[in-house]
Amino acid sequence: MNNVGFRSVHYQEIHMKFNELNLHSELLESISYMGFETASPIQEMAIPEILDGNDLIACAQTGTGKTAAFLIPVINQLAQKKSKGVSALIVCPTRELAIQIDQAVQGLGYFADITSIALYGGGDGSNFEHQKASLSQGCDIVVATPGKLISHLNMGYCNFDNLQFLVLDEADRMLDMGFVDDLNKIMSFLPEDRQSLMFSATMPSKIRQLAKMGMKNPKEVSIAISKPAENVFQGIYLVYDSQKIPLIKYIVDNKSDFQSFLVFSSTKKNVSNIVRALKNNKYSVEGISSDVEQREREDILMRFAAKKTRVLVATDVLSRGIDIKDIDLVFNYTVPKEAEDYVHRIGRTARAQSNGVALTLVNQEEMSDFDKIEKATESTVKRMPLPPELGDGPEWKLTERKKHKGNFKGNRKGGKRFNKPKKKN
Ligand code: AMP
Repeated sequence: MNNVGFRSVHYQEIHMKFNELNLHSELLESISYMGFETASPIQEMAIPEILDGNDLIACAQTGTGKTAAFLIPVINQLAQKKSKGVSALIVCPTRELAIQIDQAVQGLGYFADITSIALYGGGDGSNFEHQKASLSQGCDIVVATPGKLISHLNMGYCNFDNLQFLVLDEADRMLDMGFVDDLNKIMSFLPEDRQSLMFSATMPSKIRQLAKMGMKNPKEVSIAISKPAENVFQGIYLVYDSQKIPLIKYIVDNKSDFQSFLVFSSTKKNVSNIVRALKNNKYSVEGISSDVEQREREDILMRFAAKKTRVLVATDVLSRGIDIKDIDLVFNYTVPKEAEDYVHRIGRTARAQSNGVALTLVNQEEMSDFDKIEKATESTVKRMPLPPELGDGPEWKLTERKKHKGNFKGNRKGGKRFNKPKKKN
């Protein structure tokens, strides 16, 4: 993707805490209940721009925290000043996404008493009156798919006169699904004096044209991540921790035609443990981490480049800089926390047109992180069968994040609530 003109920031450079963002105290309370502490890169870039009142075009994929990137500043403004009628309209391509965004509104808007409704096609129409009342008398945030929203707009009772925010989420997908006329029609019903935000995973020229129609000098931010090179074969093994070392040993021993293996692990401690466990008298194994002196590191890398060392075990310190050609196979002993790190790690193989292999060892706790990586890189990595002598590994299963996520049952009348803690004075 062409990123020219975008401000591109790397994931790991960012560590801003939400309480540094000068947000409304009730919103901060919800953010903390959601279990969020540090802003993700897209949040760190987008939130201040939106709080400053700018229109915004943001290029970010699912899994980057994009939903909270627009909801946090929108809710922050609404916590201070709600409009008569609907204050914010969020348009998105699918029913599933509408439900997901609405749930995030319920979580993030809980302590600020933000009301919301999700409108999407395929319902049985039984709550039509409730929808009509929300749209005419006002509910703070409406999340809607284009078709359903237009059928309400055509009936003439929607009160968007004082709308403060329009958000188009997954704009590229809406264009792909043929919603462009619908979006133009929707915009014709809205006041021009509003703040418009557009989020999109990709930025084709059609999106820019759409943006020009409804936006005023939009700022642009992007965290589009690089994609893994196509000539890298990517696979994952679902394993228990105790199977990780035996699996690496098995593959290294059975791939006699492979000269160079690079094993990535997140921690220094793991590096020394892995080196110790792999040591044998058939080939040499070395480890490198920030604990190793620069001079010694260079020597280790030289031995690896010269193929004297067959297996090099490293922390991420190495994943960016190292440019050793012909690494045959990269192992991810641990799943990196960020997609960008995954792409950098596996980019160490298959450099300069050669083919390479990247295998990631995923235990039960790491499955959700790997799922996020697949979403962010828009790829499905091949699940590899374990060699029978290692026994069975765990099943692929995504677990909910801990803390309070999922406890927010809604803030609408009739919705089931959990005991709302007393507000602090
Ligand atoms: P999204 O890209 O909006 O689909 O978000 C991906 C996931 O990240 C969702 O499960 C969010 O609840 C979660 N999330 C969003 N922002 C943060 C954050 N700052 N810290 C931790 N998790 C987050």
